[in-house]
Amino acid sequence: MNKNKDTEAEKISKPLMKVPYTNFKQQYESIGKEILSAITPILASGDFVMGDSVKKFEKDFADYSQCKYAIGVANGTDALFLSLKALGIGPGDEVITPPNSFLATAGAIIAAGAKPVFVDVREDYNIDPELIEKAITPKTRAILPVHLTGRPVDMEPIMNIAKKHKLFVVEDAAQAVGAEYKGKKVGSFGDAAGFSLHPLKNLNIAGDGGLITTSSDELYKKLSLLHNHGLKNRDECECWGFNSRLDSIHARIALVKLKHIDNWTGKIRKIAKTYAKELKGIKGISYVPVDKPYEKAVYHTFIIQCDKRDELQQYLLKKGIGTKIHYPIPIHLQKSAASLGYKPGDFPMTETQAKRILSLPIYPELTEEQIRLVIKEIKGFYKGK
Ligand SMILES: *Cc1c(COP(=O)(O)O)cnc(C)c1O
Repeated sequence: MNKNKDTEAEKISKPLMKVPYTNFKQQYESIGKEILSAITPILASGDFVMGDSVKKFEKDFADYSQCKYAIGVANGTDALFLSLKALGIGPGDEVITPPNSFLATAGAIIAAGAKPVFVDVREDYNIDPELIEKAITPKTRAILPVHLTGRPVDMEPIMNIAKKHKLFVVEDAAQAVGAEYKGKKVGSFGDAAGFSLHPLKNLNIAGDGGLITTSSDELYKKLSLLHNHGLKNRDECECWGFNSRLDSIHARIALVKLKHIDNWTGKIRKIAKTYAKELKGIKGISYVPVDKPYEKAVYHTFIIQCDKRDELQQYLLKKGIGTKIHYPIPIHLQKSAASLGYKPGDFPMTETQAKRILSLPIYPELTEEQIRLVIKEIKGFYKGK
């Protein structure tokens, strides 16, 4: 995946990085022993696929997400794709979604055979509920909001619109494990939700993995078949399906990390608060993320909007601070999306943001000193302007 590839400049400067954008080593150092003792028994057991560890993780994750069921799948993209499939969404259908997400959101809709219909976002990067009704056509079957950056989408108006127009709701919660909206966990609002366990997500494993959550008995039954070849039991196949499963080893890693996730999220939220407090009001920075009173964001990313973005990014890199852009090209302007018929100017908020957004380093292991340095260098950059 391209988003994970470091630029040449970053590679060369990495050993000198004072604040790298990600830091896997430190997390592993803190829980490595726990992980090794959790996965070692699996290696000797041969219980690699569809085992008890997966069942246990599914149960714990469902409880954590305040849903009746969770189903482990191969990745977050499959979680969305299979949810749409299980809801019977396919060719001829339209699904409403924002154009500023990671590509996989729209990709999952396309993979299901349906058409993504984009709706612009608010300042906080999440779909604007006030623009949704205008995008509904007789072909619309579902809304697929994305809890981008780990901030919960404004779900109440979306659920009302869905009810009024008899649409399904599938939440893309890939970036938002543990986020809450009005006291309720994301992933528990829609008919189904997709989560990702990709290494760059807040709850991550040593490779690809994902989860679907749902509280519908019927949908759970369908998804249990669909993600495992349509098999009812070892020998009997009810329907054609797919091979999309979470491995036992990964389930064991995820079980270990699930125990730590609230602690990690607490630390991340504290860093976000410090960043927001210190960066707000700087001339040149037009937006810093903060929680609304009814939100609990988990800050998968901390994305500011700023003047001279590329210049600031290069400046910070020279100072040993890694940053990223999530995402520089909106989905509707990707080559792959040409046949959908969109053009520049269709989604002003998304397109303006794409030129101004910058993701700052944010992970539980960041030290006070590192946080101060990021703030100091950003202030220093704009002081000179
Ligand atoms: C990562 C991500 C996905 C896809 O998850 P994978 O596990 O990488 O397939 C989907 N949507 C969003 C918003 C994501 O960030």
